[in-house]
Amino acid sequence: MRRVNASVKAELLARIEAAGVVGAGGSGYPTHLKLRVACDTVIANGAECEPLLEKDLHVMLRRTEDVLDGLARAAELVGARRRVVAVKRKRVELVAALRRAADRRGRMEVVELDDVYPSGDEFVLVHDLTGRRPPPGGHPTDVGVLVQNVETLANLAAALDGAPVTATWLTVCGAVREPYTAAVPLGTTAGDLLARAGGFTGGASAAHDDWAALEGGAMMGRLVLDRDHPATKTTAALLFLPRDHRAVSRTAEPESRKRAVGRAACDQCSYCTQFCPRYLLGYAVEPHRVMRGLGFGTDRAAERDPWGLLCCECGVCDLYACPEDLAPRDACRWSKRAAGQKSAVGPPPDAGAAHPLRAGRLVPLSMLKLRLDLRRYDRPAPWCELTPGPDTVIVPHRQHAGVAGRPRLVAGAVVTVGELLADVSPGALGAPVHAPIDGRVAAVTTDATTLVRGR
Ligand code: SF4
Ligand code: SF4
Repeated sequence: MRRVNASVKAELLARIEAAGVVGAGGSGYPTHLKLRVACDTVIANGAECEPLLEKDLHVMLRRTEDVLDGLARAAELVGARRRVVAVKRKRVELVAALRRAADRRGRMEVVELDDVYPSGDEFVLVHDLTGRRPPPGGHPTDVGVLVQNVETLANLAAALDGAPVTATWLTVCGAVREPYTAAVPLGTTAGDLLARAGGFTGGASAAHDDWAALEGGAMMGRLVLDRDHPATKTTAALLFLPRDHRAVSRTAEPESRKRAVGRAACDQCSYCTQFCPRYLLGYAVEPHRVMRGLGFGTDRAAERDPWGLLCCECGVCDLYACPEDLAPRDACRWSKRAAGQKSAVGPPPDAGAAHPLRAGRLVPLSMLKLRLDLRRYDRPAPWCELTPGPDTVIVPHRQHAGVAGRPRLVAGAVVTVGELLADVSPGALGAPVHAPIDGRVAAVTTDATTLVRGR
């Protein structure tokens, strides 16, 4: 293993920071900060367990060497001897291609995962690939394991060659004419992405404009209703669905209604807990207990329930397990929110042993698609070169964990792809943002810089 001394490491981390690399798997955590620690194992996370997504599949197929370069460089930076690519067994051709590429390099493993949800959860991966468990409230790096999404690793490798992050890889799927996967300039709008898919096919109105999109996927996605919503460094997918689809209406339902129905209808069957991936790993997450707490008066402080604090918000409890169609995930969110607002409820309990019946309670993707009524949208999302790119992009200054970047340009300025659009103060948690296209600055607000193509 090639060793990196402290001064070289500092210089390489500065390059990754300057390129604006953040966790592309959804966290948006600045990658240079994750790489400061020492670990003995690095896992390239290509599990891609949200239904219908193929973004990571195409990253691994089309940027194989970048992903493996990124894995090797990350391992050098944290001092890890073990380097693992985690990928679903069902991706037979990809597994074979990765094995060939990994064999050429040596000292890299390709581990095949079952097609279950959420096999890509960091805690699940760490447990299943190393037998370790991060401490309650902790991180994989606390047990010597660095987990990075495969796109993040490809971006890391490019950053070390001097290329900033200017595009995101994503899948556009669901109720669209032609699903696809593509690399698109940061700031490409939902409306443009939908148009490239041939439009929305699931609407009841003649205008076919009653779509909703879940950014990131059906299970953990964020609701998008705005055509101008921009794709960012963490956008893995836009799943377009009719607004009355259960995955959408659940997300859009007001909190007051979820509370009232949950209080009245939860029968304490505990299915939500019995299927909870964190509970099955031995963590003190028991959403049925949190639901029980909804009935204890109106004091929101009482919602600081320790049984919800370690929830990773995967959605298994409410979108898959609950027979009453209730929202135990939201109850856990409220519990965490209350804990953040008030004095702490005390440290979460230690992790116990994994549940002896865990293997039998993993959620197959096929069952998840059935339960979510997604099988009608279950079509391949093949690779698509989107040329020419969008004429206009709206580039948010905050595409990462931490503070928003400060805009660097003014309206009318001419920009070149890769030029700095926004940066953060030295030492602040955040990442710089770079121009994704050649063009001109059409508008600048504190939130975003809008660029139009051409000079
Ligand atoms: S599965 Fe649903 S009904 Fe059963 S305890 Fe959990 S929230 Fe209540
Ligand atoms: S969302 Fe539900 S199933 Fe997932 S970790 Fe939280 S409580 Fe468990």
